[in-house]
Amino acid sequence: MRNFSRNDWLAVFGVGLVAVAVLHISGCGGAGGAPPAVVIDGQIAPDRVGSQLAAITGLGGATSVIVSGKATYSSPLAIAGGGLDLDNADNPGRRTAIRGAVIEVRSAAGAVLSRGNTNAQGDYALAAPINQSVTIVAIAALGNGAQPNVSVVDNTNAQAIYAVDLPVTVGAVALANQNFNASTGWDGTRYSGARSAAPFAILDVVFSAQALIRTASAGAVFPALKLNWSVNNSPATVVTSFYNTATKEITLLGAANIDTDEFDTHVLAHEWTHYFEDNFGRSDSLGGAHGLGDKLDPTVAFGEGLANAMSGMILGGDPVYVDTGRQGQAGNLLTLNVETEQGGDGTDGFWSETSVQEVIWDIFDVPADGAHSDTLALGFTPIFNVLVGRQKNTLAFTSLHSFLAALKVENAGSAGAIDTRAAVEGITINDEFQTTANVLLTVDGQPSTTNSLYTTVNAGQANVAVDVNSRPLRTSDEFLNGDGSLNKLFNRAFIRTVLPASGRVQLTATPTTSGISLFIDFPGSENRANVNGSRNVAVTFTITGVANTTHCFAVNSLEGPSTFSLSALALAKPANN
Ligand SMILES: [Zn+2]
Repeated sequence: MRNFSRNDWLAVFGVGLVAVAVLHISGCGGAGGAPPAVVIDGQIAPDRVGSQLAAITGLGGATSVIVSGKATYSSPLAIAGGGLDLDNADNPGRRTAIRGAVIEVRSAAGAVLSRGNTNAQGDYALAAPINQSVTIVAIAALGNGAQPNVSVVDNTNAQAIYAVDLPVTVGAVALANQNFNASTGWDGTRYSGARSAAPFAILDVVFSAQALIRTASAGAVFPALKLNWSVNNSPATVVTSFYNTATKEITLLGAANIDTDEFDTHVLAHEWTHYFEDNFGRSDSLGGAHGLGDKLDPTVAFGEGLANAMSGMILGGDPVYVDTGRQGQAGNLLTLNVETEQGGDGTDGFWSETSVQEVIWDIFDVPADGAHSDTLALGFTPIFNVLVGRQKNTLAFTSLHSFLAALKVENAGSAGAIDTRAAVEGITINDEFQTTANVLLTVDGQPSTTNSLYTTVNAGQANVAVDVNSRPLRTSDEFLNGDGSLNKLFNRAFIRTVLPASGRVQLTATPTTSGISLFIDFPGSENRANVNGSRNVAVTFTITGVANTTHCFAVNSLEGPSTFSLSALALAKPANN
């Protein structure tokens, strides 16, 4: 007999390749909501130029001059009909500023002589020693050059940070217009040259994302982020592009003629949003495979819908999410307008990532959207404030309900309009616990009803075997779609317990289907690891807290759908307490 963790499950059954190419993988077994151990580094300084850093290497006075110029990368646009416009990407008109990147003057021997950052126009100005041949090196990194807080590395080549360089011969006077460009490597037919533009295109989306956050929080400090990109990152090697909450890193596809994500700005911004939610807010998302039309666990639907919507906010209000790929990078794997109703996404609801993205986009954007009864135009700051505040601290599992309930509290004048917009998706917002969840689906052959998503089990109750809708307590595979990711709606059952008094309550979940082991998840507010049970054996755990506090957990099974019962036993306080 063996206890499975969720990661075991994923290893055994594999992770389905999803067209969205935005899988993310949750860590397992750690303290669920523990604040991340972050490395705080300097912020980027978009308008700082390198000349002021000359003193770091003693350059200055009569022994050095300023070398200046502009650093750019070739930027292929996504074509309306599908794919990337690589044939025109290296035209001078398509050169896009390398913003905020670390840039250095290096000696012939490779020593760093001076260092700074490009500004928001890609301009640099660095001190260089007179009468020497040097190299100007632009590095795919943001922040303090000695310790960048963002870097794009080759995960298949010893974590080397990508860079492009320009040899320069310095004379006795200042040297201007030392411009250089990172090109695509595209020869009109295939990638035959170095794909130098790719890491800078990736870096530029992070620059844009940080800029959006600063509109809401000017002093935001960004925990270190590494982005793993390689021409060798294919569906066969990394599956898809994803953010890993355990390593706090983003991994991105670069497989030519299959799926390259380096120029898919919305895909990049989507993954960055997962980094943001994990580091600045809180996500209880299970991760795993998902696709349009799936009925997802509410934590997954929220995280994915938020990332789709926020990618458009990061990219200057562009609602059209495009993932390009295929032979010659000439097609689209996904085109998704977060402003419009998605055909084929099944029944709208809190379980739908497209319902989530459409609601959050309409909260943000200015244009009224008659089809969706959208009169909201709150912009980004109220969304940011909820994500880093009430949503981070909710006692419930993170979902559209916890998000919108908080947004209504903090934007009381718009509460009615928020309710109206949510109602278009069939969603009623009462509180963070999804009371009146309006679940109108057939589950395991029975119609579900309109009561809370959470079943309440209080101390003193024993052998509770039915849920809030008077149906058997169960885990379900109704919406599993056979992809092995236990992240779909009703795969787990949500429970809440209110402590009658300060102290401890012992919970016992007993599988009543033979051959099943249960496991228990907790929201980040509980700040604890999952509890895994054994086959055919009850799983027991204890909740500790003060009187009248609400504590949530979810029951899932590892071997398939199961019915179960719950008991809650108030424990005596320890004598010395
Ligand atoms: Zn995602």
